[in-house]
Amino acid sequence: MSDAFITETAVEPTGSGPLDGVTVAVKDNISTAGVRTTCGSAMLADYVPPYDATVVERLKAAGATVVGKTNMDEFGMGTTTETSAFGPTDNPAAPGRVPGGSSGGSAAAVAAGEADVALGSDTGGSVRCPAAFCGVVGIKPTYGLVSRYGLVAYANSLEQIGPLAPTVEAAAGLLDVIAGPDERDATTREPPGGLPESYADAADGDVAGLTVGVPTELLEGADDGVRECFEDALAELRDRGTTTEAVSLPSVETAVQAYYVIAMSEASSNLARFDGVRYGPATEADGDWNDAFAAVREEGFGEEVKRRVLLGTYALSAGYHDKYYEQAQDARAWVKQDFDAAFEDVDVLASPTMPVPPFERGESLDDPLQMYLADANTVPVNLANLPAISVPAGETDEGPVGLQLVGPAFGEATLVRAGSALA
Ligand code: GLN
Repeated sequence: MSDAFITETAVEPTGSGPLDGVTVAVKDNISTAGVRTTCGSAMLADYVPPYDATVVERLKAAGATVVGKTNMDEFGMGTTTETSAFGPTDNPAAPGRVPGGSSGGSAAAVAAGEADVALGSDTGGSVRCPAAFCGVVGIKPTYGLVSRYGLVAYANSLEQIGPLAPTVEAAAGLLDVIAGPDERDATTREPPGGLPESYADAADGDVAGLTVGVPTELLEGADDGVRECFEDALAELRDRGTTTEAVSLPSVETAVQAYYVIAMSEASSNLARFDGVRYGPATEADGDWNDAFAAVREEGFGEEVKRRVLLGTYALSAGYHDKYYEQAQDARAWVKQDFDAAFEDVDVLASPTMPVPPFERGESLDDPLQMYLADANTVPVNLANLPAISVPAGETDEGPVGLQLVGPAFGEATLVRAGSALA
């Protein structure tokens, strides 16, 4: 079995539509009725959901065949797909290197041609990072455009399910199928002015007249090779009639810290359900319920998940709540304001998706802080609930580079248009 998948399957379509004959790989934190959904965790190794996530229902109704559940960092916590309890996934576009994460299996399946398209989830970059590292396209939709019903929650206020595909048009076509309100997820809503007829039709590459802002803060930490690819892609956009200008988003300097406090806090609450009673294997432990819960979690959770539950619990605890969680929420509001102000002057913002090329396998495992810092360019978008796309923008000796375009809320069609000028 390919190392992109945790479970291979062949779930037949229930209807016929734009995805007739299309194979889709689905990240293993998105519920599939009758097919185990592990979240990359030993805790859920045998968990088989009794229902489909809304996005899966929509895929099947549109004619798609689900070919497998893809490998991922445990519960979405990571940037390399190496925290999976099911072992690592290699990067088909840069063998020996990580495919990015946490939706690394989905990106690898698309890059290797093992599925036509794939779904991932993006809490702080988990669709865009693997798209960039594997040389494919990834879209993180505006918060509320795509239903999270059936997505196993990591940090609800930040995450969206999003498409991965070899081309912008194919990614947009997948977005067409999954986007739109769902009565089972009260955070979904119609875009102002309604859903466009088709996001895929916007992939016409017609960018003449568009203004592209380049936040200086998001270029600062980038590797030289990444920067060169990025500058070449910007030049290409200018050749096609866009203007580019430098802009400043001072608040993004706080984004990684704010993101990790908020994400870990939400995770500590969400993961409380894995106690061997509601979810997770039952335990034989003697003693009181505290001992029983601890025994299940000791066995079932990996190191990164434990670290985050502990830190999140600490950040939310009495006495520390004001110091960490509240401050992170203030920073989040500031990031939102900064983006709003930038979009008064420009149509889209561009940056490298990841400041670095794909890591060598094993490289980042000993240094979680280094791994968190690699998310500097992706997490501000989740904090601000905005849409973004990552498109391939060349390669360094160490692997593919992605260019990220960020748009105003529900500006997906513009991102598809601009992205399709490059890929
Ligand atoms: N790398 C980030 C994290 O570990 C993003 C993960 C994600 O988007 N699920 O939290």
